[in-house]
Amino acid sequence: MLKGIPSFLKRPGDSIRQLLKSERPQQSEKHELRIVSRDEHPISRSGISESALKVLYRLKKANYDAFLVGGCVRDALLDLHPKDFDVATNATPEQVNSLFHNARIIGRRFRIVHVRYGREIIEVTTFRAPHDTSNAKSHASQTDQGLLVRDNVFGSIEEDAMRRDFTINALYYNIRDFSIHDYAGGIRDIEQRLIRMIGDPETRYREDPVRMLRAIRFAAKLDFNIEAATEAPIRASANLLRQIPAARLFEEVLKLFLSGQGVETFKLLREYQLFGQLFPYTEDALQESPEREAFIIRALENTDKRIRQNKPVTPAFLFAALLWPVVQRAFGELVRSGIPPVPAMQQAGQQATAAQVDFTSIPKRFSQPMREIWEFQLRLERRQGKRAFQTAEHPRFRAAYDFLVLRGETGEDVQDLADWWTDFQESDTHSRRNLVQHNEQNEKPAPRKRRRRRRSNSKNSHHKDGPRKSQD
Ligand code: ATP
Ligand code: MG
Repeated sequence: MLKGIPSFLKRPGDSIRQLLKSERPQQSEKHELRIVSRDEHPISRSGISESALKVLYRLKKANYDAFLVGGCVRDALLDLHPKDFDVATNATPEQVNSLFHNARIIGRRFRIVHVRYGREIIEVTTFRAPHDTSNAKSHASQTDQGLLVRDNVFGSIEEDAMRRDFTINALYYNIRDFSIHDYAGGIRDIEQRLIRMIGDPETRYREDPVRMLRAIRFAAKLDFNIEAATEAPIRASANLLRQIPAARLFEEVLKLFLSGQGVETFKLLREYQLFGQLFPYTEDALQESPEREAFIIRALENTDKRIRQNKPVTPAFLFAALLWPVVQRAFGELVRSGIPPVPAMQQAGQQATAAQVDFTSIPKRFSQPMREIWEFQLRLERRQGKRAFQTAEHPRFRAAYDFLVLRGETGEDVQDLADWWTDFQESDTHSRRNLVQHNEQNEKPAPRKRRRRRRSNSKNSHHKDGPRKSQD
């Protein structure tokens, strides 16, 4: 249970039983502020981005309060590399803006300041008060369903902590004395590896349904459990995600699936019935043919691996994979209705895309290559004459080939075709011509088998179409 807990967090006398005893209660219980001093925690300035430190020091020099907050403090405590650094302060956005020549105020729903250093942006947020304690109606507003649409009421740091989502995201690192301020029990929950909502979870999901996706994202990313009361309302509240603009959900989908834990995230989203809110047509297709899930999982495994290897990943490939079961189903229906494969694939791709963008937008720069990946699947079957050479030069070839390999690996009848393209890419020009010629002579046989046999065992070369397993 306690595996992975940084030793500094283990207080004398803590036992698993004590930890578990403290697990249930305090939904509305108020937490005492706990201050962890510099010598009691492992966060050092050397682990903090230089730009973030510049921002913190500048604010401090101007006599404002300045803290690192959110994911960077959480991740640093867990010995992970924070991906960005967020700053919270009592200075208003205008005051922050006037301190930095490289700053700019952004957002309407939530006004913050971006301070830019080259490619790095430090987000500076003014302490917010919870909307319901405010009498400044023009600064905060909520729809009848409880959805928070504006949130610009400034407040104290305690109030700011209470309106953050999870306890582990409400830890503040103070630049004045390098201590950590814990207003919501976040340190305890890091110890217990728990995602716990601050306040009443159902209300907080109603205020912002994206918090359900965030709970899943952090559970997968950190390998934490979602605390019982925090998870309880999720399934019943999942449909609230329909209120969220498709553009925001697109961004959330990228964070969910392109952060290195895509497989785990996908499984959790399905378990909590959230996946169907994001990709309802894929969910339908998976309900109808559960075996299609293998392809998505394989694609996400591949993506997770690329991220671990620092290789680029593209939303086009991700969406192509997540929507493939929908495209396959539509393609099958169109072909059965008598439409030839090429236009059927085009139409299937169009239909799947048009249906999806009501839920998550897909910017054109991604939807275009995504559809090309699908359409290319048929093009990869045509290898006569110069075609194969031209296909291999096409900018979309590599992604389409990777896609084909995943299809072959997960039971679609394209394994031989994928092998053929693997051979083609590994061959020199002369061997490539042989491969193409061979393919023209005979549509069916597996080229890899014949080529190898000719090389390694020429005496038996008359036995050209022998069983494949002898090669593997
Ligand atoms: P990461 O950046 O690693 O994905 P993060 O926790 O930093 O995780 P951000 O989206 O960068 O997530 O948000 C920064 C902080 O802002 C969070 O830690 C949390 O305190 C607060 N926050 C973000 N989104 C919400 C939300 N929807 N509701 C309440 N608080 C939020
Ligand atoms: Mg962050």
